[in-house]
Amino acid sequence: EKLQQHQEVCSKPTYSFEYFVPKTTQGVQNLYDRMDKMYQSSLPLFIDITWNAGGGTLSKLSTELVSTSQSVLGLETCMHLTCTNMEISMIDDALESAYNSGCQNILALRGDPPRDAVNWQPTEGGFAYAKDLISYIRCKYGDYFDIGVAGYPEGHPEEPNKLKNLKYLKEKVDAGANFIVTQMFYDVDNFIQWCKEVREFGIDVPIIPGIMPITGYAAFLRRASWGQINIPKYFFALLDPIKDNDELVREIGTKLVVEMCRKLLSSGYINHLHIYTMNLEKASLMILEQLDLLPTENEYLTEPISMLPWRKSL
Ligand code: FAD
Repeated sequence: EKLQQHQEVCSKPTYSFEYFVPKTTQGVQNLYDRMDKMYQSSLPLFIDITWNAGGGTLSKLSTELVSTSQSVLGLETCMHLTCTNMEISMIDDALESAYNSGCQNILALRGDPPRDAVNWQPTEGGFAYAKDLISYIRCKYGDYFDIGVAGYPEGHPEEPNKLKNLKYLKEKVDAGANFIVTQMFYDVDNFIQWCKEVREFGIDVPIIPGIMPITGYAAFLRRASWGQINIPKYFFALLDPIKDNDELVREIGTKLVVEMCRKLLSSGYINHLHIYTMNLEKASLMILEQLDLLPTENEYLTEPISMLPWRKSL
């Protein structure tokens, strides 16, 4: 019965929410409340917890958050895990903690450089690329974890060559990854063209687009510039004249993102949206509401849904 209900849910496109790890204990508590509230009102298929540049207390907070969201809040959780500042023993600890909490989903990443470093450097006794981390997880845990990887439809800031990026993406999938989550983007035509190229390159795992809500003009520009992504001219034309009115920027920005998601969902490549919530509720839910994706009474399940049937449905 549960599977049947689940399949009804899956007949609509599905979505997931990404949260980053707050720096304070109070921030963590607020986040648990928000995650729980957002889960109750919108039933995401899973949630992601980002990984803070390894080694310090911040990365311990990542594993704690994963463990609590999976085993206490009961949310299907995906743990991001990076190689930055991580010796293998630390990777082992993180994986063991995820395993013990019942978490079965890892987004395996190389990681960004730590804040105080310009270039990324491998840690002695650690891994240099995400593909090495994936091989290691597969070797140690077999098929226990579902492993996702990062995809770059707009290119990776350190590697402008498109073909090389496709080659590296394929290496990650060949090493054992079974889904791709992309960087944020606003250029849908470029994204759809990239999906076509990914498929032509022989990569056949599900592609999940990373959707960044527009919550304010300055943040919108800052995030796009940080990720080095293209902003289509019509976004500027609509948002620049209203840039000082936050509420209007959010309203028009949401319309733009909704229009973008509609085009993605009708492209034939996409059946799931991954929303970068930035730990905020309103903008993410506005997008889902306008897309008519929020659950109806019948679709509301009292128990969390396993990702396993979802994988088969994509
Ligand atoms: P890789 O795929 O290993 O690539 C790293 C670099 O090496 C790239 O420049 C690539 O072109 C190059 N490369 C890859 N393979 C080879 C090869 N065989 N030979 C030569 N060069 C190669 N960062 C965090 O710190 N924490 C997070 O939680 C986090 N979450 C993210 C979630 C998503 C969806 C995305 C898209 C990114 C996320 N990031 C996160 C950022 C990510 O860590 C950075 O973009 C990082 O620079 C690259 O990680 P990767 O896993 O794509 O690395």
